[in-house]
Amino acid sequence: MEYMRIKKPIFHPNLTNDPLHRMFDEVEAISVQGYDEQRRVIYWNKGSESLYGYSKEEALGKRLEELIIPKPIWENIIAAHSNWVNNNVPIPASEITLHNKKGEDINVFSSHVMFINQDNHKQMYCVDIDLSDVRYAQAQAIFKEKMLEAVFEASPDLFFLMTEEGRIIDYRANNTKSLYMSPHQFTGKLMVDILPEQVANKFQMHFDKVLKQVGETCFEYELAMPFGIVYFEARLSHLPEHNQILGIVRDITEQHKSSEIIRQHAYFDTLTLLPNRFLALDRLSQMLNEAERNEECAAVFFIDLDDFKKVNDSLGHEIGDKLLIAAANRLNQSIRKEDTVGRLGGDEFIILIRDINSDSDASVIADTLLNIFREPLSIDGRELILTLSIGIAMYPQNGTNTSELLRNSDIAMYQAKALGRNAYSFFTKEMNVSMMRRFEIEEQMHGALERNEFEIYYQPLLDVNKKQIIGAEALLRWHNAALGHITPDEFIPIAEHTGLIVAIGRYVIKQSLSFLTHWQNVTQQKYVMAVNLSPSQFRDKELFNFIKNTLTDENIPAHSLELEITEGVLMTGQSYVDDTLLQFDQLGVKLSMDDFGTGYSSLSYLRQYAFDVLKIDRSFINGITLNDEDRNLVKAAIAMAHSLGLVVVAEGVEMHQQLLILEELGCDFVQGYYFSKPIPAAQFITFSQEYKLTE
Ligand code: C2E
Ligand code: MG
Ligand code: MG
Repeated sequence: MEYMRIKKPIFHPNLTNDPLHRMFDEVEAISVQGYDEQRRVIYWNKGSESLYGYSKEEALGKRLEELIIPKPIWENIIAAHSNWVNNNVPIPASEITLHNKKGEDINVFSSHVMFINQDNHKQMYCVDIDLSDVRYAQAQAIFKEKMLEAVFEASPDLFFLMTEEGRIIDYRANNTKSLYMSPHQFTGKLMVDILPEQVANKFQMHFDKVLKQVGETCFEYELAMPFGIVYFEARLSHLPEHNQILGIVRDITEQHKSSEIIRQHAYFDTLTLLPNRFLALDRLSQMLNEAERNEECAAVFFIDLDDFKKVNDSLGHEIGDKLLIAAANRLNQSIRKEDTVGRLGGDEFIILIRDINSDSDASVIADTLLNIFREPLSIDGRELILTLSIGIAMYPQNGTNTSELLRNSDIAMYQAKALGRNAYSFFTKEMNVSMMRRFEIEEQMHGALERNEFEIYYQPLLDVNKKQIIGAEALLRWHNAALGHITPDEFIPIAEHTGLIVAIGRYVIKQSLSFLTHWQNVTQQKYVMAVNLSPSQFRDKELFNFIKNTLTDENIPAHSLELEITEGVLMTGQSYVDDTLLQFDQLGVKLSMDDFGTGYSSLSYLRQYAFDVLKIDRSFINGITLNDEDRNLVKAAIAMAHSLGLVVVAEGVEMHQQLLILEELGCDFVQGYYFSKPIPAAQFITFSQEYKLTE
């Protein structure tokens, strides 16, 4: 032991104490005390002062036990001392706990010598070495060891102690399940010899690295274990003072899984598992870079499933989702490995075809795609046929960047739809013009409500017999800074397509009903307000409540509102349309069948639903003065409507003569340029006041 090396003072009876005193006087590290036969202090060096806290002056003459001996061992010490003085039995050197001036424990290794001075008196010298540092270090070492054990115990990590060449000396593993092999197989072996080559190479690389650098090196690797692939993270640190490397290995399989899930979410569509829009567009830009580098052609296919919305609406979302998955799989199976199918959203997909030679190659691929969809998809025991509309844009002819190619393939897809669906179409410059317009409208329509670009015009509805204004039809107008005036025939279908019709439709309801209140207040008359509803507005589950609440808010009786719908709404055959119409009927809102004569003009719809009004399309009114055919048709329509209890409105009355015929045919109400074009609210009020006056 370290402290045993201290030389014991040699017993020499003739020696005077003075040289000894001189030797130890200034020594700080060791406490040397001298005691006479009565255990009174005769010597107290610097080391004693600092160790026990008594100055030399304080200590001299005091008894040993009064100074530094704890009470409980007084007797023993006194006995041992007198035994030595009287019987020559030395007190052996030992570790002992003494007290300092403050009464604190002081651990010392105490050695003792006995001198006989010139007067033949015995003098005991104690040489005490402070053990508190040593004790502290020992305690620390034990603590550290215990702590390390606890850490090893608690940690899921594996610890490897290795030589600098990577030979495993020791390991700690709280659970051996994470070990690639049993400990006896690897202890003493080189890490690189027991691991698969690729992983071994990684380890070797990082051994080399950590030996050269300061600090740790960290890397990940995976191992095939009996229960599957396990992902690990290894941290190596060099312990140069021991010529060892410490390796801490952590199982990060769970983390790996969650980051994989996050990656999946960020880049892949959760329904179809195809690359999502983000990843697909990223792949497109990669493909374009590659094509540019290799001077190759490439193709972008923009694919939209035909009438998917109908399927979704009629068979439900669950079937719709399954259909999307099945379609995605089919698309995916039909392409080469190096090509990409991605889902852009909804029922829109994109296929990226790299390194293609010509348009005809693209045609072949498009034909194949249309063909493979001839085979029905079986969903929950149902055989469903799904067709595609494909738009094709070629790189570099139809665009050289991602957005250009995406837009142009989209334009070509619209063309394919216009061709009657189940078709493909290459992008051409001419398409651009009409499609650009559509895209521009779509683009400008976002935010148009917020920018207050919409306004409602009103066109009077008149009673044929009384020649009085009985109400108005609300007709939406849109004026946009970039596009000017856009007609509802152009923008309503686009609003339906984008879904913006829901918000726009609510705006129309709100505005027109509050206008009705205002109009009635100004004129002190009761009127009806006819408002058009698009089929897709029925998808808004809150439609009914919204209208009901708006009526309540405006304090307008339900029968003052007439909702105009076309046959298109009814043809979807959805139960929620039926339910909503029934709710409106029960509330007392009037239902009006608009544009009668242009569609199927199915009588069954008139019977089936609780319509109150039939609006004959203006194309027939136009003809009543020109041919008998239209005149007879209008006559029949009026008669039939009356027999079913409906009133009839004739739209598009432009001439006095038309009015006369309609009067004769028993038509109830009229609307048309002959009376007034649709006009802004303020103008309309003036018009209605003056009109009343002239009659
Ligand atoms: P609609 O419901 O059949 O409305 C009648 C259309 O005929 C209006 O066209 C009106 O301006 C026009 N018109 C009225 N009298 C005459 C006439 O004597 N001669 C001629 N040539 N035309 C006449 P507008 O305002 O352009 O609206 C077109 C269509 O857009 C409407 O047909 C309606 O289906 C739709 N629409 C308009 N506003 C809305 C709306 O707020 N919501 C929805 N969903 N559709 C709307
Ligand atoms: Mg209408
Ligand atoms: Mg109409």
